[in-house]
Amino acid sequence: MSTNKRLIEISGKLRVPPGSKVNLAKDFDTGFIDPSVARKDSDELLRESVAQLAEYQARLAAQETYGVLLVLQAIDAGGKDGTIRHVMSGVNPQGVVVHSFKVPSSEELAHDYLWRYAQRLPARGQIGIFNRSHYEEVLVVRVHRELLERQKLPPKTHGANVWKRRYTEINNWERYLVDNGIRVVKVLLNLSREQQRTRFLARIDDPEKNWKFSPSDIAERAYWDDYQRAFSEMLSNTSTKWAPWHVIGADHKWFARIAVSAALVQALAEIDPQYPEVDPDVRNGLQDAKSLLESEAPKGARPDPVK
Ligand code: ATP
Ligand code: MG
Repeated sequence: MSTNKRLIEISGKLRVPPGSKVNLAKDFDTGFIDPSVARKDSDELLRESVAQLAEYQARLAAQETYGVLLVLQAIDAGGKDGTIRHVMSGVNPQGVVVHSFKVPSSEELAHDYLWRYAQRLPARGQIGIFNRSHYEEVLVVRVHRELLERQKLPPKTHGANVWKRRYTEINNWERYLVDNGIRVVKVLLNLSREQQRTRFLARIDDPEKNWKFSPSDIAERAYWDDYQRAFSEMLSNTSTKWAPWHVIGADHKWFARIAVSAALVQALAEIDPQYPEVDPDVRNGLQDAKSLLESEAPKGARPDPVK
């Protein structure tokens, strides 16, 4: 089977069927490894999938019709940064824009909640990556309700139905993006509580990793069950036909990286971007330019050293 087909099959297995009711802890294994991928072949497979992404990205950029938005969500230490570094390692940096969303600024809070995300969308021809995303608006904001109070919403709009409404609004927004050529690829890196503990300890024990650790990570960890519930609700309500979620077990970083690149390859294969056809007039012009350049060959040089 071709690498492309293998990756597309892997990605298909990770997709959350639209309309399904998800219980993250019960339905998904954080240590999942697709049986078709052996550890010893995994470096090679990642290399090949990175090469495919590079080829697709070159076509996507040349065609300038579609954009791709990769939405990456995870609990702290889920491996978002490392995944981005590995998966995008082969693509032309000019064609990729990464944005990390943090606590919103006062300017951002003065706008509607999707405003800051809309400003960072990829252009046609680009792959955009949201390191955390508009989904924080139904994750951290749901777990810490006081954050919602800071959003200056009109009264009556932040009652009990606020989350259902946000799911609908997000689904509609993504529908609009997809209908207008911006493909949305959503990935949740699903880490176990025990792996999070281990990774935090590694950040504490290794002085070169200390900078990655923040005491607030421990405070957030105390909300583990609330996050699991918020993830499950998010997956149940926002995995749509036009923008399905992929849940990727994150305990094995090597597999998670392959799986994320598989989800991207699958989306790009569906877009199937093509280099633009040069129209006949332009092509004739190319021949004239070629003749001129050949006539300028210095003595002894071949008229066209490339051919
Ligand atoms: P790292 O893995 O390096 O820690 P990070 O994505 O966790 O990266 P941080 O600077 O540690 O980056 O944290 C960003 C913080 O911003 C997170 O705690 C997240 O919950 C918070 N945040 C993101 N979006 C929102 C939002 N819409 N409202 C409130 N807080 C948000
Ligand atoms: Mg953090």
